[in-house]
Amino acid sequence: MRSVDADVIVVGAGVAGLAAALRLKDSGRTPLVLEAGAMVGGRMTSRRIGPFTIDCGVALPTRSFTRMRALGARFGLAARAKNIPFTLGIQDADGTVRAYRARHFEDILLDRRLPLAARAAFMRIGLDLIRFDHRLQLGDVNGAALLDSEDTASYVRRLGGGGDELLADVLGPGLRAAIGTELGSCSRAVLFSVARNTMRPGFWIMDGGLDQFPNALAQFVEVRRSTPVLEVRTSGRSVEIDIIERETKRTLRANGAIVAVPGPEAARLCPAAPRWLCSVLERTTYSRIACVFVGWTTRIAPACTGYVWKGTDAAKPASLEFEHLRSPGCCPHNRSLISVYFIDSPDFRCFAMSDDEIGARAIKSIREIVHADGDVLFIYVTRWRYGLATFAVGRFRELASLRARLDAWHGPVDFCGDYLNGISSEGALCSGEQAARRLVRRLAPERWRERAAITRGAALPSS
Ligand SMILES: Cc1cc2nc3c(=O)[nH]c(=O)nc-3n(C[C@H](O)[C@H](O)[C@H](O)COP(=O)(O)OP(=O)(O)OC[C@H]3O[C@@H](n4cnc5c(N)ncnc54)[C@H](O)[C@@H]3O)c2cc1C
Repeated sequence: MRSVDADVIVVGAGVAGLAAALRLKDSGRTPLVLEAGAMVGGRMTSRRIGPFTIDCGVALPTRSFTRMRALGARFGLAARAKNIPFTLGIQDADGTVRAYRARHFEDILLDRRLPLAARAAFMRIGLDLIRFDHRLQLGDVNGAALLDSEDTASYVRRLGGGGDELLADVLGPGLRAAIGTELGSCSRAVLFSVARNTMRPGFWIMDGGLDQFPNALAQFVEVRRSTPVLEVRTSGRSVEIDIIERETKRTLRANGAIVAVPGPEAARLCPAAPRWLCSVLERTTYSRIACVFVGWTTRIAPACTGYVWKGTDAAKPASLEFEHLRSPGCCPHNRSLISVYFIDSPDFRCFAMSDDEIGARAIKSIREIVHADGDVLFIYVTRWRYGLATFAVGRFRELASLRARLDAWHGPVDFCGDYLNGISSEGALCSGEQAARRLVRRLAPERWRERAAITRGAALPSS
C-alpha cells in the first residue's frame, strides 16, 4: 500500500461532491471531502431566522429529480419531501396577471389572452417535447447535445408567427428565474430540458429546509469543513492537494481526487490539467443572482404562488415567490415569507447595491403584486457569484465531447458540478455519481497496468 493521507479526496461539499463521495464509498473506496465553507451543501443551503426557515439556494426541486428523491429516501427523508402545487402569475405591462399552473399545459393552450398563433407554437413545442423526451433526462448531457443545434430565439421563430410572442409573453418571463438569464440566447436544449423537467412534472419541497439533504449525505462520508483547497496536481501515481488547515498550509496525498467546485474555480485549482480539459472548465459561465428574503408580519394570500414580470426591464425581479404558500411550515401560520430574486446584469448591477437598496426594491415589488396589510419583520440578502450555470448554443455539445474524453482519460483526477450536466441540482448530483464511477474504474488495479502501457507508448491489451 502506498503512503497516502486519504484514498480519494473530493474537493467541495455541494450536492455534486457529496453524491460523488457517497458513490465512491458505495464502490468500496474511502473518500475524504474537503469543504472551504463552514457548512456543507454549497448552493443547496438553508438559513434559520427565528421561526423562519429560508432555502437560500435551491428552492424548487422538481418531481423529475428521481436520484435526489431516492437518496433522500435512503437517508430517512422521504416523509419530509412533499409534492406541492405551484401557480405562476405573469404580470403584463397593464398590471393584469395571467396565471398558469405547473403540470397544466392546457392553461397556456386555452388562454384566450394569448394570440392563437402563440398557442399553436406552444403546441408544436409540446410535440417536440414528446418527440425528444428520451434525450432530456437530467444528467444526460449526451442526449441534450443532440438538440443543441440552435438558440431558443431561432427555434421559436421557426415555429411560425406566434413563436416570438410566446417567447416574449410566456416562456421568457416564466423561465428567466429558473435559468438565470434570457431564454432566447440559450441553447434550445435549455428550453426543452427546463420545460420537461420543471413545468411538466411539478415541484416538491423538503419540510424543515432543503439543507437536510446535503446534511444527511454528509453524515455517511468523512467531511472536513473550513478546509479550502489551494491546488490539485498529479504526482506519479498519486494526487497532491495543497490545503489550508487551521491557518496552516499543508499538502495531502491521495490515490485520486474529484474536483466538485464551479467550473472556473476547478480550472484555477488544477493549473497543470490538460488544456482540452481546462479550456472547457474556464469557459463556464454563470448568472449572478441576488436573493432577498422578506419576513412579513401578516399572512399574505395572493392568487399565485410565484410572480414574474413580462417585458425587458432588467431592474424587475426575475421572480417573486410566496414561500409560505408552497411550504406552510417555513414560518408561523400568521406570518409570511417572500423571496425576491434579482439577476445581476450590465443594465442592472444589483451586486453593487447595498442590502438596504436592494431590500427596498424587493419590498416595492411585493407591494406591486399584493396590497398587503402588515409590515416587514426582517430582510435577509444573499448574493451568488456562481448562481446558475448558463448554456449558450454549442455548450452541450462541447460538454458531451468533454465527457467522452474524460471517459477515455487515465488521469487520477475527475470533475463534477452542475456546469457539466445542465441547469439543476439533480444534474449536479448525477455528475458527481458519474465522476465517481469514472474514477473508480480508473483506480482499479488492472487499469494501472493499462495506464503504464499507455505511458510507455505500448499498444493496449486487446481484451
Ligand atoms: C439562488 C439559486 C436558486 C437555485 N434554485 C434551484 C432550484 O430551484 N432547483 C435546482 O435544481 N437548482 C437550483 N439552483 C442551482 C443549484 O443550486 C446548483 O445547480 C447546485 O446546487 C450546484 O451544486 P454543485 O455541487 O455543482 O456546486 P456548489 O453547490 O456550488 O458546491 C461547490 C462547493 O465547493 C466548495 N468549494 C469551492 N471552492 C472550494 C475550494 N477551493 N476548496 C474547498 N471547497 C470549495 C463550495 O464552498 C461549495 O460548497 C439554484 C441556485 C441558486 C444560486
